[in-house]
Amino acid sequence: MNMQASRPAIRTTCPYCGTGCGVLATPDRAGGMAIAGDPDHPANFGRLCVKGSALGETVGLKGRLLTPRIHGRNASWDQALDLVARRFSETIAEHGPDSVGFYVSGQLLTEDYYAANKLMKGFIGSANIDTNSRLCMASSVAGHRRAFGTDTVPGLYEDLEEADLVVLVGSNLAWCHPVLYQRLAAARQARGTRVVVVDPRRTASCDIADLHLALSPGSDAALFNLLLSEIIRKTDCSTDNIEGFEDAVQAAQQVNPAATGLPHSDLQQFLNMWLQTTKTVTIYSQGINQSDSGTDKVNAIINCHLATGRIGRPGMGPFSVTGQPNAMGGREVGGLANMLACHLDIENPAHRDAVQGFWASPRMADRPGLKAVEMFRAVEDRRIKALWIICTNPAVSMPEADRVARAIAGCDFVVVSDMIAQTDTTRLAHVLLPATGWGEKDGTVTNSERRISRQRRVLAPAGQARDDWRIIADVAARMGWAEAFAWDSPAQVFAEHAALSGVAGALGSDFDISDLAGISDGEYDRLEPFLWPQSPRKRGGRFFGDGRFHTPSGKARMIAVTPRTPPPVSREYPFRLNTGRVRDHWHTMTRTGLSPRLSRHLAEPYLELHPKDAARLGLQPASLAQVSSPHGRAILRVLVTDRVAPGHPFAPMHWTSETAPSGRIDTLVAGLTDPVSGQPALKSGVVAIRPFAAA
Ligand code: SF4
Repeated sequence: MNMQASRPAIRTTCPYCGTGCGVLATPDRAGGMAIAGDPDHPANFGRLCVKGSALGETVGLKGRLLTPRIHGRNASWDQALDLVARRFSETIAEHGPDSVGFYVSGQLLTEDYYAANKLMKGFIGSANIDTNSRLCMASSVAGHRRAFGTDTVPGLYEDLEEADLVVLVGSNLAWCHPVLYQRLAAARQARGTRVVVVDPRRTASCDIADLHLALSPGSDAALFNLLLSEIIRKTDCSTDNIEGFEDAVQAAQQVNPAATGLPHSDLQQFLNMWLQTTKTVTIYSQGINQSDSGTDKVNAIINCHLATGRIGRPGMGPFSVTGQPNAMGGREVGGLANMLACHLDIENPAHRDAVQGFWASPRMADRPGLKAVEMFRAVEDRRIKALWIICTNPAVSMPEADRVARAIAGCDFVVVSDMIAQTDTTRLAHVLLPATGWGEKDGTVTNSERRISRQRRVLAPAGQARDDWRIIADVAARMGWAEAFAWDSPAQVFAEHAALSGVAGALGSDFDISDLAGISDGEYDRLEPFLWPQSPRKRGGRFFGDGRFHTPSGKARMIAVTPRTPPPVSREYPFRLNTGRVRDHWHTMTRTGLSPRLSRHLAEPYLELHPKDAARLGLQPASLAQVSSPHGRAILRVLVTDRVAPGHPFAPMHWTSETAPSGRIDTLVAGLTDPVSGQPALKSGVVAIRPFAAA
C-alpha cells in the first residue's frame, strides 16, 4: 500500500482477464496509485489476484508513447490525424473500401470499440475490422450462435457457487482467471463441490481437482460425444425444445473411447459423476477455442447440457470464460469481421438496414470482412494497402508472427495507436498515435458473465495521449463524417450504443441495454456494475431457463459433431507444442513487465518438457533448447517436468523481441484456423527440439 495515498478511492475495473474484477484505485501525489479489491463488485467481492494487485506498479511514464510520430519523428496531433485521414481516404477512393483494414483489441473499452466498428462498417463501408479476440474466443461465439441462435453466454459466476460439479475443460482457471478459481476453491471448501479438470497438461488448476483427465490433445469433442452417448443410454432426455437431436446423437455414437487416450476407469468415473450430478457447470476456455475444430468442440460441450436440460438454471450450464477484459464488449458492438452491432447479423439485409438507418450512414458493409489470419494474409499480398492497428501487438501474438511482422513491414501505410512507444508492432508503423492507458481511460467493459462495469479515469493522460474513441472520431471527422462522430464524452458514445441496442432488441437481438439510451454524463459516471440485458422487456439475470432460445423456432440446436484430431506430427517435427499463459504476466507484457514483482514468478521464456523427452534429446534441466517449426525458431530454457506428457511440450506466449529476443513463441505456430470461427489453432503447433549450441 502506497503511504502517500490521500485522495478518495475511485471505483474502476481491472484491465486484465475476463473475470472483470472491481478495483479501488487511490491516486497518490506522486502520479501513482494504491490498489485494493472492490468489496462491492459482484465479480470479485474484494478479491484480487497478483496481477490485479500489482496494477499500481505498472502505471507511470516508463516506456510510454507521449506524442504522435510520423516516420519516427514527433508530430502534432493535427499533422498525424490529417495524414491518417488523407491516406485512408485516398486508398479507399483508389482501391475501394476493402483495401483498408482495422485490427483492434479485446482490451479496448466498449466506447472505443463502438467508434472503430461504426467507422469501418457504417462509413468506410467494409467489414475489414477484426480483433485479437479472434485469437481468444471466436469459436465460442460461433458455437453459441449455432446452438442458441445468438452469441448469448448463459452462465453467471454465482453458478460456480451453486454447482455440485464443475468441469474445467481447456481452462487453467487458477492462472488465467485466478479470482474465479478462488471463488470455486472457496465453494469446494464450503460445500464440497467436486471439480474435474480436463486438460492434457497437469496445470495448477489440478490442485483442487477430484479428477484430472489428461486426455489426448485435441480429443475434447470425442470425450463429450462419449458423454452424450452415455446420457442417451442412461437417461430420458426431453427433446421438446431441441432441434438436431437425432443427428447429434448418431454422430456421438460413432466415437471410439480409445480416441481420448484415457484409462477406462477415469473415463467411467467422469461419466458417472456427470450423469449423477444435475447441478453441473462446464467451464471452457482457450484449450477448446484455440483449435482448428474449436467450434465443434464448443458444440459438443453444449450438446451435453442441452440434452440434459442443464442450462439457464442456477448451478448449471456451459460457460465460456473470455480471456480478455472486454472481449464481451467487443462482441456487443459487433467488433468482429463477421458480426454486426448489438449481436445483429451482418448477412441479414433487414439487420443491416436497421443499423444503417440508425447511423444514417452513407454505405454499409454488406458482407463479412476478413478475419484476423485472413486480414494479415491480405496485408501480405497487398490487397490491404492501409492498416490501422489499435491497442494490440500482432507482430508477437499472431500465429506465424514473423510472417505477420514482414507483412506489416511491407504494407503501404500502417498506423498504430498504442500507449507503449517500442513494441514489435509500433516499430513497423508509419504513424504512431499515443493512446491513454488503464488508469487514464474512461468507459465500460463487459466481463465473462455479461456484467458491464465502468473503467474510470484515475490519472491524467500521459503526455499528449488521447482516448481511442476520440482518436477514431477525429479521423472520421477528417474523412468527412464529423456529424456522425460528434461525441464529447464516452458517456455520449455509450448512450448511442445503448440506443442502437434498442433497435436491435426490436429485431430480436438478445443484447438490449436500451434502458440506458438516455444516460447523462453524471449517471454514466455513477453507473454501477450490471448484467445485461437492461431493457424495458427484461432486466439482467438468466437466459434460457424458460426453455426459449433465440433461433427462429425458439428451440436450441444440437450440432452433429464428428471429432477431428489436429494435423499429425512428422519425422522432421515430431513434437506437438501447447502454448498458453503464465500466472503473473499478461499478453505481451507491455504492462506486467514493468513490475519486478510480477517478473519474479517466471523470469524468462521456457519449455516444459517431459523427462523422457529431455533424456532422449540430451537436454538437462535449465539448459537451452532450440525449438523450430516450418515458421520460425525460438531458444527456450528447459523445464523438465511430468506435468506434460511425452511428445507434448508446453511454452508460454508472453515474451517479445524487447523482453527475450529468441523467446517469441507464436513465430512457431502455423496460421491454421477453425473453418467456422476463423480462430487460430494456437495450441497445436508441430515443432522439432534439440539442444541449443551458440554459434
Ligand atoms: Fe484482474 Fe483477472 Fe486478476 Fe481479477 S482475476 S484481478 S480481472 S487479472
